[in-house]
Amino acid sequence: MDAEIIAVGTELLLGATVDTNSAWLATALAPIGVVIRRITLVGDDEEAIASAVATAIERVPLVICSGGLGPTADDLTREGIARALGRPLELRPELLAQIEERFRAYGRRMNESNRQQAYIPSGARAITNPHGTAPAFLVEHDGRTVVALPGMPAELRYLVEHALIPYLRDERGLRSCLLTRSIHLSGTTESAAGELIADLMRLANPRVGITAKGGQYEVRIAATAESRAEAEALLASVEAQLRERLAAYITEGGRLAEYVARLLQERGLTLALYEGHREAPVYRAFGPAFDRSPVLRGVIIHPLDYPLDGEGAMSLARGAAFDARQRWQADLALAVQATPPDAAGFADVCYFLALPDGERSVQRRIDLGTADGWAIAGSVGLDFLRRAL
Ligand code: ATP
Ligand code: MG
Repeated sequence: MDAEIIAVGTELLLGATVDTNSAWLATALAPIGVVIRRITLVGDDEEAIASAVATAIERVPLVICSGGLGPTADDLTREGIARALGRPLELRPELLAQIEERFRAYGRRMNESNRQQAYIPSGARAITNPHGTAPAFLVEHDGRTVVALPGMPAELRYLVEHALIPYLRDERGLRSCLLTRSIHLSGTTESAAGELIADLMRLANPRVGITAKGGQYEVRIAATAESRAEAEALLASVEAQLRERLAAYITEGGRLAEYVARLLQERGLTLALYEGHREAPVYRAFGPAFDRSPVLRGVIIHPLDYPLDGEGAMSLARGAAFDARQRWQADLALAVQATPPDAAGFADVCYFLALPDGERSVQRRIDLGTADGWAIAGSVGLDFLRRAL
């Protein structure tokens, strides 16, 4: 079932609050087959809410609103939905009783403004909210559904799990099953990998997408079907094709760091690192992969050399790799040394690997000025090691 989300709140437009509700809704509803087609942010403005709801309901059978159900004058989701659907707000005595009861339980006096929360569009179904005063509601309108949920993340989540999902299953017959799987890649680029699998990325089901982070890539496959077995079958056929085409780049069994750590372990090889920068990109890229493992013998971090050019950097890396290998009696030593970045942020990053029976080196131009720059430098080092292994 296609759906749209409308997140209400001026604080969302100001950037003071990040709209986490929509992301959460999208992941929580995907497993039962709800596909979010659009997310709209609107301020606490009745007209804006009304027009967002009115246009969304033209496009999709399910519109989910979050926020703006509180008791204050700037909580206008009730009014906005009522206006969009042409249904007046009406007082629900049972909601009023619940709100009063909640105040009694707290031992507090109910404010007049809380009465406002007992008004919902005519014909709407109230959803009781045991975690807050704001009652949520759901309106069925011309065979479509508009749901209003509170903005408070904990309340929203509770009502999705206890009211919205049961409604969609029991009354809308949503049954589907979503299965996802990831394949991790390194030693390629997003565009190069994307070209190899372009046709598969155009499939409607399973859907295939690539995300990039720090020079590593994740291909995600998501299949939706009526049953787990069908979803599994859809997933399996596309996964097999992806694996065949991307074989040269797949880091089996997870991310690059774990893969390389496992390769070293399986081959009984030990490693030493020399890092010519305080960012220690390769050591960082390994993350916890070597925790409590005897594979990594030692790391030297020496950020005090400033080679003039790539040749100088490579020569420092070469000497450092042999020193580190000697010092820790390791089988392999990888040294990383970059030139100082140029005005545009680019540096020549040199990797030198001292092996039991030889040596290898690679030099890359990397934009260290970007937020991801050092992470990419780390991934390149790991990938260099992976290929050597
Ligand atoms: P209640 O206050 O009873 O939860 P409400 O619907 O009026 O009802 P809001 O006033 O809109 O809720 O927001 C309540 C809290 O939830 C605020 O702290 C707000 O920042 C947070 N919030 C609102 N919308 C979102 C959102 N889309 N993502 C994350 N947090 C949100
Ligand atoms: Mg609000």
